[in-house]
Amino acid sequence: MNNNLSNIKKGKYFLDKHNCIGLPTETVYGLAANAYSNKAVLKIFKLKNRPKNNPLIVHYHSLEMLKKDCIVNKNFLKLYNKFCPGPLTLILKLKKGSNVSKFVTNKKNTLAIRFPSHPIAINLLKILKYPLAAPSANISSKLSPVTKKHVEEEFGKKIKYVIEGGNSKIGLESTIINLTARPEILRLGSLEISKLSKTLNSKLKFKKKSSLKVPGQNSLHYSPGIPLRMNCKNANSDEAFILVKKRNKNDKNFFYLTTSGNLTEAAKNLYSTLRTVKKKGYKKIAVEKISNKGIGLAINDRLQKASTK
Ligand code: AMP
Ligand code: MG
Repeated sequence: MNNNLSNIKKGKYFLDKHNCIGLPTETVYGLAANAYSNKAVLKIFKLKNRPKNNPLIVHYHSLEMLKKDCIVNKNFLKLYNKFCPGPLTLILKLKKGSNVSKFVTNKKNTLAIRFPSHPIAINLLKILKYPLAAPSANISSKLSPVTKKHVEEEFGKKIKYVIEGGNSKIGLESTIINLTARPEILRLGSLEISKLSKTLNSKLKFKKKSSLKVPGQNSLHYSPGIPLRMNCKNANSDEAFILVKKRNKNDKNFFYLTTSGNLTEAAKNLYSTLRTVKKKGYKKIAVEKISNKGIGLAINDRLQKASTK
């Protein structure tokens, strides 16, 4: 814990100087910077090579601080009380006079916010005077990182510091819900749609083409950088074969996300496994059919975007 404390202080040191750092969260590692600083936020876009019109998620630890930046509504409070801190991003109306950098929101009047549950993220946010803008810590459109080493692989010496926080527990990006109109899911994540709907007392839908137009949700994304095909019964010998059900034989191109069919475990291993097969020199990936239930929906959503040509 002492070690964590000194790492958190080191993180603060770089953030206070308007630099970006790698931040562990329970979903994936973020590339974090002071959300109130234009200079710091612009560094995120530059490092990631992210289009400026793709807005960033801002991370908070307290409702009090959040209320300075956005307008809280009833639906927000219902979801906040049940799921925060946790892997849930909510879109709210930005408050007039908020200090959030205009580059975070792409000069729009909505703000995506999240309360991460990773203790390092919480303890860091507690000692800062500002919230953290933090998209996933990867080059735009590539795989999200789930370890400190992955972040270092993405940015090398271009990033000053990454806080060690172990493997991300969930391994998939947060569920995003727009609360500025009738609630709607903009991105699937690990949370069950039925539980979110129950909390809101209204049936939530995930539409591939949402009414709130935001870039970054529909095109190629989460890409391992090599062709990937889904729903495969078998793979060719030159393809890495990604599996979720144990087979009797064991070929050298087999890579299991889980051997027990546990899709929560599969989600956690997804991005690491995709990185591993690429490092091993495979030029193509085949993925076994994954059931479209629960977190399987979010896994298939990511694979679908990763396989977009
Ligand atoms: P990432 O940070 O890479 O996980 O991606 C964040 C995603 O959140 C973006 O691609 C947007 O689709 C979405 N997002 C962030 N801010 C907003 C906003 N103000 N309104 C709608 N969607 C947003
Ligand atoms: Mg991302």
